[in-house]
Amino acid sequence: MENISPKYFRENIRRSLLDEKLRLNVKKATELTLLKRKSVIEDFDEWELLREKAHHIRKNAIDNLDYYLELFENKCRDNGVQVMRATNGEDAYVLINEILRNISAKLVVKSKSMVTEEIQLNEQIEQAGVEVIETDLGEYIIQLAGETPSHITAPALHKSREEIGKLFSEKLGLPYSSDPTVLTGYARNILREKFLNADAGISGANFLIAETGTIVLVENEGNARLSTTIPKIHIVITGIEKVVPSVDEALLLLKLLPTSATGQKITSYVSFINKPKRPNDIDGPEKIFVILLDKGRRKLLKNPETNSALYCIKCGACMNICPVYQSVGGHAYDSVYPGPIGSILTPAMSSFCNGKDLAFGSSLCGACTEICPVKINIHHTLLWIRSQAVERSYTPFIEKLLFRVWRRVMQNVFLYNLSSKIMHFLQPLMLQDGLKVHGWLAYKNIPELAEKSFHEIWESELSK
Ligand code: SF4
Repeated sequence: MENISPKYFRENIRRSLLDEKLRLNVKKATELTLLKRKSVIEDFDEWELLREKAHHIRKNAIDNLDYYLELFENKCRDNGVQVMRATNGEDAYVLINEILRNISAKLVVKSKSMVTEEIQLNEQIEQAGVEVIETDLGEYIIQLAGETPSHITAPALHKSREEIGKLFSEKLGLPYSSDPTVLTGYARNILREKFLNADAGISGANFLIAETGTIVLVENEGNARLSTTIPKIHIVITGIEKVVPSVDEALLLLKLLPTSATGQKITSYVSFINKPKRPNDIDGPEKIFVILLDKGRRKLLKNPETNSALYCIKCGACMNICPVYQSVGGHAYDSVYPGPIGSILTPAMSSFCNGKDLAFGSSLCGACTEICPVKINIHHTLLWIRSQAVERSYTPFIEKLLFRVWRRVMQNVFLYNLSSKIMHFLQPLMLQDGLKVHGWLAYKNIPELAEKSFHEIWESELSK
């Protein structure tokens, strides 16, 4: 059940750094998205003001989570939508299984949902003998490949179109092509059939509007709309943090989400789902169920140092800009949520011991904080997690010793000058690869030391 457990982070990083193709795919995709985002943001006069407002909207929603959740639940009931709560993945699965059993479901279509990845829902449903088909193109590719998403908004970002063409040809027996139009056509033909025959559709939610009991979904392919309108049953499974107080506030967040996620002013489809099909409606589900999942979110909420991670609107921009994510890709994190925000969510949602290493996979450059549309202070939170790892004695003895020595040296002029001289002496050995350096230094070029230290230059300037 636990898919949030990055046990092999260090080994994965090593492997990813040696995979030139993977690194190229990830870099190309993230840089392209960042360029698109930049050009769209130039059209916003008040981008910073919007971010500020979005921060306060999310803060208010999370600070008053129980109030808004209750309001949302009541409005849903008024609208004829059934709402249930699940503490963990097992609870959610029991609820979903019962709904599917009651309609003797054989086929379920799913639109993209990271929450279902959290609880590995597909495997659970398949074990009950029900076929589950991912209908988002990226998710469909990942499902065919038997992999997990490597990015929260672009799940197959690590794959080139040639790799996707090969995958389609191997798994679907179709003629090889690397043309995106041809590949999309292949997927469309197969998925259209599945939509028409599905017994139930499962989706996540981008926002839950408390004042109206509305479920908001954004997407570009129309697959979410088909998944939620053609089958007789629509099941929404989402995290409790997705609630926002009002329609106006959801609309403001809707300006920031696609811009940050894909560099679009608005996605091709935005669905506001309020109620099941009425007698005179020509389409729509007969029943809608909403499952609100906790799974570690309340634990996160209780900690004032990390609870702002719940403001996240899952745009993925912090991943795109992160130099570490760009270098190793999402699978290296071995967690549902990779990148900077994943490094905060993961230790909170699994165990601190399992997830803490991710916080060390950051240069702390602050680019994630700068790009975040809801102004989460991501790099400071990562620093706090690191401090906790040190306080709880999770860091290796040799690292602690080195930092103790470093502190002594930095506090003593004589030792500082002496160490500077020793480094100058050792430098030729290091630059010529004469020393075998392990750990992260094995992948880094050691910068050449200046001939004179700042201290020496300062002294000589003073003596002139
Ligand atoms: S932390 Fe911010 S930038 Fe990262 S995914 Fe969430 S909203 Fe987007």
